Amino acid sequence: MIDVVRDSEGVRKAIEELLEEDLARSRLEAQLGSGRRVDPRTKERMLAQVPRRTLSPGYYRWAERMLALEAERKAGVPMDPRMPAYEAEGLLAAERARNAFNSEHPACGGCGTRQPNRFGVECAHCGAKFARKRR
Ligand SMILES: [Zn+2]
Repeated sequence: MIDVVRDSEGVRKAIEELLEEDLARSRLEAQLGSGRRVDPRTKERMLAQVPRRTLSPGYYRWAERMLALEAERKAGVPMDPRMPAYEAEGLLAAERARNAFNSEHPACGGCGTRQPNRFGVECAHCGAKFARKRR
């Protein structure tokens, strides 16, 4: 049995996968819930876009706990000062995963929708045009 909570790289990866999964699912639900009839083949293709999990289930259970803890912290719930080191590590992993996710899926300045990737020229939801960043 792998010691999941002490593998912070694995935890970070699991959290990133959960965030990706959430985004893919919410896009899928938005399209299916739009009232338009969706071709079963289209639906299948969309379902295939929900990324597969690559780690053992224990990672995702711990990752979910870390995301819940992160949400509590953001909501201003005071953290236990005696928090064990592996939990503090897990929170850091959540932060790293979220930063990576946010830069891969920038939010639209107009409607706040996370984009499928960072190369889009306009919002997939409201159609707002994005300014091209010069490097
Ligand atoms: Zn938008």
